[in-house]
Amino acid sequence: MERGELKPMDAEQLREYGHRMVDFIADYYKTIEDFPVLSQVQPGYLRKLLPSSAPVDPESLDQVLKDVQTNILPGVTHWQSPNYFAYYPSNSSIAGFMGEMLSAGLNIVGFSWITSPAATELEMIVLDWLSKLLKLPDEFLSTGQGGGVIQGTASEAVLVVLLAARDKFLHRVGKNALNKLVVYASDQTHSALQKACQIGGIYPENCRMLKADASTNYALSPDALTEAISHDISNGLIPFFLCATVGTTSSTAIDPLLLLGRIAKENGLWFHVDAAYAGSACICPEYRPYINGVEEADSFNMNAHKWFLTNFDCSALWVKDRNALVQSLSTNPEFLKNKASQTNMVVDYKDWQIPLGRRFRSLKLWMVLRLYGSQNLQDYIRSHINLAKHFEGLVAQDPRFEVVTPRLFALVCFRLVPFQSDLDLANKLNHELLDAVNSTGKIFISHTALSGKYILRFAVGAPMTEERHVNEAWKLIQGQASLLLDSLST
Ligand SMILES: *Cc1c(COP(=O)(O)O)cnc(C)c1O
Repeated sequence: MERGELKPMDAEQLREYGHRMVDFIADYYKTIEDFPVLSQVQPGYLRKLLPSSAPVDPESLDQVLKDVQTNILPGVTHWQSPNYFAYYPSNSSIAGFMGEMLSAGLNIVGFSWITSPAATELEMIVLDWLSKLLKLPDEFLSTGQGGGVIQGTASEAVLVVLLAARDKFLHRVGKNALNKLVVYASDQTHSALQKACQIGGIYPENCRMLKADASTNYALSPDALTEAISHDISNGLIPFFLCATVGTTSSTAIDPLLLLGRIAKENGLWFHVDAAYAGSACICPEYRPYINGVEEADSFNMNAHKWFLTNFDCSALWVKDRNALVQSLSTNPEFLKNKASQTNMVVDYKDWQIPLGRRFRSLKLWMVLRLYGSQNLQDYIRSHINLAKHFEGLVAQDPRFEVVTPRLFALVCFRLVPFQSDLDLANKLNHELLDAVNSTGKIFISHTALSGKYILRFAVGAPMTEERHVNEAWKLIQGQASLLLDSLST
């Protein structure tokens, strides 16, 4: 491009550049297995490669794409690689990509209904669809007092419901009671809850992260919860919020929703269910029982951007009482006033979230649901769970390894256990095995700790992963384990 000719949205140039970018991305996917899955660069690598200030004169798309290829891609960890088995997946798909493109193309900011009626209304409809696929209770539908909203992340989801619950309680018991409000969850709960408590002004000493251990497969014990609540009440504190998890981030532990929900109800607590990862699986009838008891919940969250083919970000949150969110988060400045909002005829999603501005994210989920259909989506989930089962079987056949917790979804928690009695040595070995495996660049796995044990996590869930990738990954892990054990014995 030449100086002085800036036409930032010329339709013909968009067509040309857009086609070239799609070609670039398609080529990336075609060759994705050629890159090291986990980026092998050192901290600060990029500063050495790029100029220290922005260009004065325009550069060409060719020049920029060349830089992407030579300087950026080496610093990318390839989450979409079929050899990516770390953390949890973050799916992309053609449908998700189409939705993302359209959303970027329209580039609306849909904070109030009037700023793009379709953005608000499509979001309501699509979340009703997804709610029905998950067989969530009707109270979560937008046709009653509740409804769904797309948040950026599960972290924002738990924060907004915590704030809604906090303000509902403070409204009842008085603003001075903030130091008495108590939150309950297991110690396996995602750290997002702790962050929400910090932001929400909940006193750190009032956050009960109750210990969950191997005896319950790391699920929160209803008895422990009851005991903690009675203890707090007798000390003059006010229990107000319970967060249960279906599919914990460490090991896919499942808190018993039905029993926990009853305790929450008896004590008047807000009951939030975090199913950020495992929620996707619950569109399959055979996995839906894992969220039995969600009927008791005040709010439910699942990340469509994890394991549901919807490009990041898209975190679906449902509440039974949308008014609680609005009471806590609404503002009504003069410059945003409009007839539809003033007459309460519409949903203004700005009152259900932290920021004002919001993207047209429902397009992505809508595209995924329409272009794939629920039956394919169910089979997609099943295929990953079957691959994880297959991997679990491979681990179980090698006497040097053990599967640590029961595999429920598509995550296998396992470790190398050559010297049964020595925990420290086993931890050190597994840490070394993780580093050795990941530094080959051929696969990427991550780790966690359970009851002091260092554990390897193998999460199947990338859209292009097939059985051969799982077999190759296991061969690689076995090979690196042999090298490590050999070096110990010499
Ligand atoms: C991934 C995950 C989260 C956090 O997700 P974000 O969307 O990145 O905030 C929270 N809870 C569980 C159970 C998760 O697996």
